[in-house]
Amino acid sequence: MKTIGLVGGMSWESTAHYYRIINSETKRARGGLHSAPLLLHSVDFAPIAALQAARDWRSAGDILADAARGLESSGAEIVGIATNTMHIVADRVQAAIDVPLLHIAKPTADRLIRDGFRTVGLLGTQFTLEMNFYTNELKKAGLESLVPEIGITDLNAIIYEELCRGIVREASQKTYVKAIEHLAGRGAEAVILGCTEISMLINDDISPLPTYDTTELHAKALVAAALETSDCIKDP
Ligand code: GLU
Repeated sequence: MKTIGLVGGMSWESTAHYYRIINSETKRARGGLHSAPLLLHSVDFAPIAALQAARDWRSAGDILADAARGLESSGAEIVGIATNTMHIVADRVQAAIDVPLLHIAKPTADRLIRDGFRTVGLLGTQFTLEMNFYTNELKKAGLESLVPEIGITDLNAIIYEELCRGIVREASQKTYVKAIEHLAGRGAEAVILGCTEISMLINDDISPLPTYDTTELHAKALVAAALETSDCIKDP
């Protein structure tokens, strides 16, 4: 099995989920006492969030590219960035390393297409919803995406002020459910939890649409790539 390099800490709450999923998926695939050969570079999220707020993607990209370079020189053979938003700088990070960077939107889109969906709702930070770096990736894979028309500021605040700090509120859960209802009303057939913390709040039991959790799909795809299995997405 190849060594996985993870650029995490954005936030550490969701990176902890990555760690668990990567190891449990490895155990599921290989059995016994196997766990994942994994290198983690966990950044301090506060300065990254400040650069995001300043829209200084060049500086944020430099930090993540340095982190990825360090992972590669320590032996990582496949790299993942454990956040949807920071895929804004995915090209810059890939350009800094020779090993492949596995884009988070890829396994998510592959699974949706495989399940027969073509029009999907997208939830995430305001950057993910308002810039086109993410919806373009989905389009390339053949998916039409709908983003919320109202309430993006509230959805964004719940991510940064609550979920990234480990706070889960029922009122915020209702805000997200309402946003999914709106997306369903506009024709979305499923919803992408396009922020690695949203699964702390939303799951299939309470969502009006089937959910596709980017944290789980990305973590499992990293394991599949590390195991070099031909079908990169396994059934749960
Ligand atoms: N983890 C989040 C995401 O998947 C948001 C935090 C960040 O800005 O990186 O987009």
